[in-house]
Amino acid sequence: MTTHQQSRTTSTASATQDTVAAPDSAAPDSAALLSEIGARPIPEFDGVHDIWPRGDRLRAIRAAATQYKKRFIQQGQVRAVQSVDVAGAPYPVNYAFDNAVTVPSLPLITMINRMIVVQYDDWNGRPRTLVFEPTVPAGSAEAPFYSNLQKLVDKIPGGALASKVILKYFNEPDVALSKVGLTPQDVDFCTFDHLHVQDPRMILGSTETIPGDSAPREPLFGDARMLVHRRELATLENLHPMQWAWYVEDGLVGVDRDKFAVFDGDIELGPGIALLWTPGHTDGNHSLVINTPDGVWVSSENGISLDNWQPELSKIPGVRRYHEQFGREICPNANTLEDALDQYDSMIKEKTMADRCPADPRWLQILPSTELAPWKRFWPVVPTYCHGGISYGRIESGLKEKK
Ligand SMILES: [Zn+2]
Repeated sequence: MTTHQQSRTTSTASATQDTVAAPDSAAPDSAALLSEIGARPIPEFDGVHDIWPRGDRLRAIRAAATQYKKRFIQQGQVRAVQSVDVAGAPYPVNYAFDNAVTVPSLPLITMINRMIVVQYDDWNGRPRTLVFEPTVPAGSAEAPFYSNLQKLVDKIPGGALASKVILKYFNEPDVALSKVGLTPQDVDFCTFDHLHVQDPRMILGSTETIPGDSAPREPLFGDARMLVHRRELATLENLHPMQWAWYVEDGLVGVDRDKFAVFDGDIELGPGIALLWTPGHTDGNHSLVINTPDGVWVSSENGISLDNWQPELSKIPGVRRYHEQFGREICPNANTLEDALDQYDSMIKEKTMADRCPADPRWLQILPSTELAPWKRFWPVVPTYCHGGISYGRIESGLKEKK
């Protein structure tokens, strides 16, 4: 029996010690996993998310990120990174900017899901391929929030037209992978910043047939494992009503638990690549942080536009006023607000890590993993500045044989 199955057994046997324990980078099963995948914990962030009172916590997080960033940059860069757009999905405007923005007409905007492929060397010098955010649109449609939204849109006159305006499919994750020149066998790991509207069965495969399918799903990326924060996986296993609408409740049915690589806290996968724990939007949220020839980039869904991280520069009506009225440095993507203060702190952690964009140094190199579409039809709710994607180096197939 593996440690992951053991922890599952423990949690279902009501002794939830394993899932509620404070994140501890030295937890034995986490340590074993990290050495197995050539990763390591980040001691600079030990305990900072538990500090109280809250003003002190924010200061500690900012200081830890400032300190870690120096070491992170010195350690090196990733081999290559490339993003590909996957699909456009509807999203309520009032969630996107914490109710700061109201529009008279269609209260929905489109967010573009983007998959990011990163190649790096792990701490043992082994080349690795990570796929970040391989969203399968059919899986997202199963989450209660989206299935209810679709029923609503189908009912209203002109609903089909509205769907056409809002929905757009670019590339399914397997097609997106081939667009960067890779096969499923090239992938070592996949990960999502959090598991809202994700169905792990469609990524990792399942022994049971998903209702509506004719056969059990095969894994999308061969033997690749899904890196997941312990708190995010435990959330999906044990949903609270305040979380339910955003998760695919049956997403773990028939999925082999050994396919998950479960970690705690903050980890660095190799020189120039880290997964930072950024709780708030969800308990187990994490952000991808990579070092490139242009410096540090961060990606997550704490915002859906740079306007969320830099509201003082925003031209979207209401966002800069939110910043000024409340004296807040960020304006969160706020569909859940599981813990709004934590999300605020996490966005400061991200802002502290990110470097400025050489093309326009007012803006930070933060790439929303799901980004507000820069489409005129949604004006004035369009990003004030949009990176549109990321590309450095050359993604190579067959890296696994080079170890
Ligand atoms: Zn979310």
